Amino acid sequence: MIIQLSDIMSGKDKMKHIEAPIELNQFKLDGMEYEFVKKNPVAFCFTVTGEKRMLVEGKTSLSLLIPCGRCLDDVEIPFDIEISKDLDFNNTDADRIKELDELNYIDGYNLDVDLLIFDEILVHFPLQVLCSEDCKGICKVCGTNLNKESCSCDQSVGDPRMSAIQDIFKNFKEV
Ligand SMILES: [Zn+2]
Ligand SMILES: [Zn+2]
Repeated sequence: MIIQLSDIMSGKDKMKHIEAPIELNQFKLDGMEYEFVKKNPVAFCFTVTGEKRMLVEGKTSLSLLIPCGRCLDDVEIPFDIEISKDLDFNNTDADRIKELDELNYIDGYNLDVDLLIFDEILVHFPLQVLCSEDCKGICKVCGTNLNKESCSCDQSVGDPRMSAIQDIFKNFKEV
């Protein structure tokens, strides 16, 4: 959803509340796609603080399915997002203009809700997700989820059939 900030700034009210749905279907990062389990609309409050100046506050909660770094089972990770951005559209201050240009969710006077939320998820994205602190992971030899079953493999030898899963592990460690 695109919110036209110019409309709010030229309106007679100094404050405006808008509920904006999140239209992102997945959160995509480094070739991975994470599904939303919960996606509440963003409760925005826009306050005109001066000539071409605006305080943007927003609040939402959502959750994503992110695979456990050891066993790859999906784990629901909640994100409580609180946004507070002071936007200045005045031309007089070159630094301010540069700052605005660097905000990918602002294009002219348009605010892209999905891009803003994407940035916020990115900032809060966990380095490592575990389904539980004592997750036993998966057997590197036969692929058994060791939380659910046990196997009698020799853990010291690798199996080329499992290299794909081991690669997934490596990718997660790099995130
Ligand atoms: Zn796990
Ligand atoms: Zn095994």
